[in-house]
Amino acid sequence: MVFPMPELAEVEFYRKQWDAGRGQPIAAVRTARMPKLFRGGMEPERAAEVFRQSVFSDSSALGKQMLFQFRRDGTVVGFIGVHLGMTGKLICRPAGVIPGKHDHLVLTMANGLDLVFTDPRRFGRIRLATGETEPDWWTGLPVPVLSADFTRRRFAEILDRRRKAPLKAVLLSQDAFPGVGNWMADEILWQARLHPGRTAGGLDEGRKRGLYRVLRSVCRGALRTIGEDFSDPPKTWLFRYRWKAGQACPRCRNPLCREEIAGRTTCYCRVCLDD
Ligand SMILES: [Zn+2]
Repeated sequence: MVFPMPELAEVEFYRKQWDAGRGQPIAAVRTARMPKLFRGGMEPERAAEVFRQSVFSDSSALGKQMLFQFRRDGTVVGFIGVHLGMTGKLICRPAGVIPGKHDHLVLTMANGLDLVFTDPRRFGRIRLATGETEPDWWTGLPVPVLSADFTRRRFAEILDRRRKAPLKAVLLSQDAFPGVGNWMADEILWQARLHPGRTAGGLDEGRKRGLYRVLRSVCRGALRTIGEDFSDPPKTWLFRYRWKAGQACPRCRNPLCREEIAGRTTCYCRVCLDD
């Protein structure tokens, strides 16, 4: 099992780890003295006052972001936003475990569970917001790839705006494809048989249609496997073979290529390209 940097499906998996505390009031809030991790203008100490005794009522994930909602007497009182960065994780464990030095936020729930945000490398972010309405940094996020609003037309416009950029770089744009990261971009392009360095403007209508279809099916497939229980995607995917050098393409059995494209280590097959 590999532990890639959290992308769409990993984020969805971690969001659900806190579900065991849903519907429960928070008995205690513990925040580490790690101001760099906390955003949104609220001191971590004040968060403890705001969220204590409020009920964890809902959560959602969009791309690489998560939003947790809290209520008191039925009214929404605030939100905690989480971005996992490179090594962040959300976990749930029995209350009473002594927090480790990387446990930056611990919500002790009334049912005896601790909901924990842990992050050894501290590239993650926690955002705190009070009030009834969802904060701007959440409502301003781009349209999710699997939503009905993410139409073929929208996709074609995104490609057109970035027509000179390599496809790999385009797929990594978080303002266009929220949650698509390095491994997903490689998977999408490999399944669509497109070279990651090919420019976005060079695709004809048929290839654009194919890429749109593969983009959505990779997102769905990742959510069904990794997003569900952290199991690996199917053996027919590049995912199983992309992490270290010397592996063969699962489609044509030729050696896979690894090189830096758009500033990221990129894995692709030079042989089974569609051009
Ligand atoms: Zn191949």
